[in-house]
Amino acid sequence: MPQPSPPSASPSFATRVAALAEGQVAVVGLPWDEQSSFMRGAALAPPRIREVLHDGSGNLCTEHGADLGATPGWTDVGDVALTSGPAVLAEIEAAIDALVERGARVLSLGGDHAVTYPVLRAYARAHPGLTVLHIDAHPDLYDQFEGSRLSHACPAARVMEEKLASRLVQVGIRTMTPHQREQATRFGVEVMEMRHWTPSRRLELGDAPVYLSLDLDALDPACAPGVSHHAPGGFTTREVLGILHTIGPALIGADIVEFNPRRDTGTTTAMLAAKFYREIVGRLLADRGRSAR
Ligand code: MN
Ligand code: MN
Repeated sequence: MPQPSPPSASPSFATRVAALAEGQVAVVGLPWDEQSSFMRGAALAPPRIREVLHDGSGNLCTEHGADLGATPGWTDVGDVALTSGPAVLAEIEAAIDALVERGARVLSLGGDHAVTYPVLRAYARAHPGLTVLHIDAHPDLYDQFEGSRLSHACPAARVMEEKLASRLVQVGIRTMTPHQREQATRFGVEVMEMRHWTPSRRLELGDAPVYLSLDLDALDPACAPGVSHHAPGGFTTREVLGILHTIGPALIGADIVEFNPRRDTGTTTAMLAAKFYREIVGRLLADRGRSAR
C-alpha cells in the first residue's frame, strides 16, 4: 500500500516542491514560535504531529471513508527551513507561494498563529476574494501586542488591513478585550462568540472559497491541553469536526496552529492535531475540483 511517510531532512524543500505534480494537496510544516507572547514550544509541533500520525496506533482513514494511505494526490513536503526574526515572514510567504504556484491546496502546520499572516499573503494572491474561517478562543485582532505587530495575537488585524480576505468569520471567541471589539467593528469581522454558540449552529459562509485557520486553543483545554493559552469554555473535538465537515463552499487551504507539545499530556493534543490533519487533507482532496478561482 502506498504509504506517505514522514519526510526526512533531505531532499530540500525546494526539491520536494519541484517534484510535486500539479494540483496536489500539500502539507507543509512551519516550525516558528518566536512570536508567541507567553510560552514557546509550538515550533515543535510539525514533527510531533507526523510522529503520532504514523505511530501505528491508528489508520489514515478519514471519517468520510477516504484511506489517505492509499489515496494519491497529496504529499507532506516536510518543514520549511526557517531562520529567525522578521525575515521568517518572507521565508514563509515564499514557501507558500512556491506551493500555490504549482496549484497546490496547502495545509500548513504551525507554529504559533503568527504563521497565518504570511501564509494568507501568498494564498490571497492566488485566491483573491476568499473567506477566512478562523476557529480560535482569541480574536487575534490586536493592532500590536507587547510591542510587536507580528505577534501571534495580531494576525487577524494584519489580514484585514491588507484585505487578504473578503470575509473573516470567527468562531469560538471567548477572550475579547475592548480594544479587540473596536478592531472587530472597524474591520467588519463577523464574530460568533462562544457564549452564543449552540452545537446545532450552521455557519453561513456564502459561496466564496474558504481558507480555514484552526487554532487548537479554540477547543476546551480538556480536549486540547497542549496549547500555550488555556481558555476554558471551548469547543469539544466533535463540535470542531462538525464545523469542518459542514463548511458549504470549497475548502481551498488551511492551517493548524498553536499546538505546543511541551504542554501536552501524553499524546492527547498531538493525536487531536493528527486527527484534524487527516480530516482536513481529506476535505481538501475532495474539494479539489471545486471553485478553482
Ligand atoms: Mn490564535
Ligand atoms: Mn488562540
